[in-house]
Amino acid sequence: MRMKVRTVAVIGAGTMGSGIAQICAQSGWETRIFDAFPESLEKGIGRIFEFWDKGIEKGKTELTDKEEWSRNLKACNDISEALENVDLVIEAVPEIMQLKKEIFIKIEKLVPKHTILATNTSSLPISEIANITNCPERVIGMHFFNPVPIMKLLELVKHEKCSKETIHLAQSIGLQMGKTTILVNDVPGFATSRLGVILGNEAIKMLSQGVASASDIDTAMRLGYKHPMGPLELSDLVGLDVRRDILNSLAESFNDESYRPHQLLNNLVAEGSLGRKTKKGIYIWDENGKKERNDLPK
Ligand code: NAD
Repeated sequence: MRMKVRTVAVIGAGTMGSGIAQICAQSGWETRIFDAFPESLEKGIGRIFEFWDKGIEKGKTELTDKEEWSRNLKACNDISEALENVDLVIEAVPEIMQLKKEIFIKIEKLVPKHTILATNTSSLPISEIANITNCPERVIGMHFFNPVPIMKLLELVKHEKCSKETIHLAQSIGLQMGKTTILVNDVPGFATSRLGVILGNEAIKMLSQGVASASDIDTAMRLGYKHPMGPLELSDLVGLDVRRDILNSLAESFNDESYRPHQLLNNLVAEGSLGRKTKKGIYIWDENGKKERNDLPK
């Protein structure tokens, strides 16, 4: 296995894929980003440049850095172009097992024999994705956090057939990206999502029961428990649809209905209020990330 990463492909240019591609480009790797939908690809690239331009405005990023990073970044409308001779692939398509499996089957056929295949799933079993390929030893969970360029954690998820080389390489990749890695076994929800979604779901239930306002529930956890962000604002940041999907997937994996999303969460997703990305969720959000109360039905 080649131990040095030079070229990376990111599959899916949404919230996570664009952030992952951004830090790969910033790490000095040739980074190809692919999305099945050209408008999503364009939006994803737009988010990366917006981040860099804001950094320049605030004096945190040098223009020469932006120029170098943008040279590393290539938008691809064709998956085979993105995967040609890559050392690492990071998949960040929606949290649907069938979709991820189809993509891994395709990826395996198009990459060299040394390539590491990583999935950014928040909750799905890595072994099930790995076992659909003929190279499960090269498949690993690389779970990034939102917003990727800012969040320090990279949760690595190993499964039974994952090789030591793959784990070591993933750890060294995380280090080069400036992340702190943790290594977790392949149990649904890993170490992070399981606790995170339960806290968020319980906070939504409390909101629905009228225990306190959304803002007071968030303040309770920020000031009382020193969480940097309250569970409701964090749910809006992650995306209410993403959180609902994780809860449903945990309920099925553990065969435990207590993980099911609260009705208020289901209702918000059904009406298209997905959180910050749609400007409306548990709170109402403006362009600058400022929030105000949303009068929700119970
Ligand atoms: P998203 O909906 O923002 O992005 C998914 C992207 O995948 C979209 O741009 C979509 O066009 C694209 N896509 C759909 N089908 C595709 C295909 N067949 N081939 C290529 N691209 C395709 O979702 P997201 O929030 O970025 O989540 C992506 C993954 O990351 C999920 O597995 C999610 O659970 C995980 N994750 C999300 C967060 C978060 O905070 N949102 C955090 C950690 C992990």
